[in-house]
Amino acid sequence: MKEVIGTTGLVMNEPLLWEKGVAGRIGFSMPRRDVPEAPLDASLTGEGPDFPDLSEVDVVRHYTRLSQWNYGVDTGMYPLGSCTMKYNPKTHERQAALPGFVNAHPMLPASMAQGILALMHELETCLAEITGLPAVTLQPAAGAHGELTGMMVVRAYHNDRGKPRHKILIPDTAHGTNPASSALCGFTPVPVSSSARGVLAQETIAAVMDEDTAGIMITNPNTLGLFEENIRAIAKIVHDKGGLVYVDGANMNAMMGIVSMGAIGVDVMHLNLHKTFSTPHGGGGPGAGPVCVTEALAPFLPVPRVVREGDAYALSYDFPKSIGKVHAFYGNVGVLIKAYCYILSLGKDLKRVSQLAVLNANYVKERLKDTFHLPYDRPCMHECVFTDKNQEAHKVTTLDMAKRLIDYGFHPPTIYFPLVVHGAIMIEPTETESKETLDSFIAACRAIATEAAQSPDTLREAPTKPKVRRLDETLAARHPHLAG
Ligand SMILES: *Cc1c(COP(=O)(O)O)cnc(C)c1O
Repeated sequence: MKEVIGTTGLVMNEPLLWEKGVAGRIGFSMPRRDVPEAPLDASLTGEGPDFPDLSEVDVVRHYTRLSQWNYGVDTGMYPLGSCTMKYNPKTHERQAALPGFVNAHPMLPASMAQGILALMHELETCLAEITGLPAVTLQPAAGAHGELTGMMVVRAYHNDRGKPRHKILIPDTAHGTNPASSALCGFTPVPVSSSARGVLAQETIAAVMDEDTAGIMITNPNTLGLFEENIRAIAKIVHDKGGLVYVDGANMNAMMGIVSMGAIGVDVMHLNLHKTFSTPHGGGGPGAGPVCVTEALAPFLPVPRVVREGDAYALSYDFPKSIGKVHAFYGNVGVLIKAYCYILSLGKDLKRVSQLAVLNANYVKERLKDTFHLPYDRPCMHECVFTDKNQEAHKVTTLDMAKRLIDYGFHPPTIYFPLVVHGAIMIEPTETESKETLDSFIAACRAIATEAAQSPDTLREAPTKPKVRRLDETLAARHPHLAG
């Protein structure tokens, strides 16, 4: 096989420390003591934790080797569609770790927490500017949590008008969390089909929108990586029947500084700070999914809200129509600090971030469309969706090709999502990958397509290079080994 990116067999196996320990072996690298000296608890010395005896070099190698098993954005390109796995500047980690932030206790009185409150207030202002929606809560801890919060706001709005509504329109190109969040909130999701162009047609919405429908929840750009171009007309249809328009803005990476969601008729929108605004993610968090709303919906946002009182900032609970709290304290503050630093460090260049994200996705799309089948051949936003149709004749699937990419030194893209595309391969290169990296990714994909035609068995066995070969996913699901 052709080497596209250098890979090596020098990845060590590593047993558990307990298997490595040799009685009596010790290491001397002690951290400096920062607490008063205290005698060891006698009960502990007798039956203390089962720590193995190891030398310093054993421990250093153990953790270094384990760290090398991990693949992340710091290792290489991570083209996981819908996830925006871009490189996040390290400086923002440093700012979030400043002692004044790290040591601030969440129960400090507002008078002693003016810095962080000012930061949160300014971040809200920035997000309001970016979305065109004036009122913001920073509390939700993730995208899906933002959706739930947003839907609770929608429900509270209708209830407050004395007209509770029960249904919500969910296009087939919505993110899977959208129907789940609305169902959790008590709404019945009504599925809506997209047109042959991969976007919503206003006639389809007009046909189903009624006065028991709370609104529509649109992922925009949708999960095909396409911008919902009829959204203004759709918003009018929904508003005319008293409904609200929710946009899942987890993919704001494609639109910053380009589209004002407020101006095109959106009422509620969440953002994923951990995707678009500089927080490394994957592996479970932490994240932040702020929700931005119109003035009309502001009274329903979660409390406490950061408010300005003269020259000072305060936390106010004085919003009687609020849906209440959705997170302990004020949300994941470390993530908020990173987002604030990212926005301030880029300023107007945020627009360029989106332009480059869109350019990179279109570059990959154009360079690979003769290799993989492209179901919607039109300009895309920040990601593009192919299928395995061209490889069907060789009995090679999306899964085979995704696994083979690992042998070529690339993390696979998102596969079999969105569900509306059979055998989907969803690639989101993000703006932080250089043309050279994109070119080697494209070369790997092309090489794999050639293998699919010439030696399809190689692909069905892939990956062959990493420590762990292809897993039997059915067996893993049926007979999981949960012990270490
Ligand atoms: C990632 C994503 C979500 C979910 O975000 P989490 O932070 O993982 O809960 C929701 N909608 C879209 C469009 C997404 O891409």
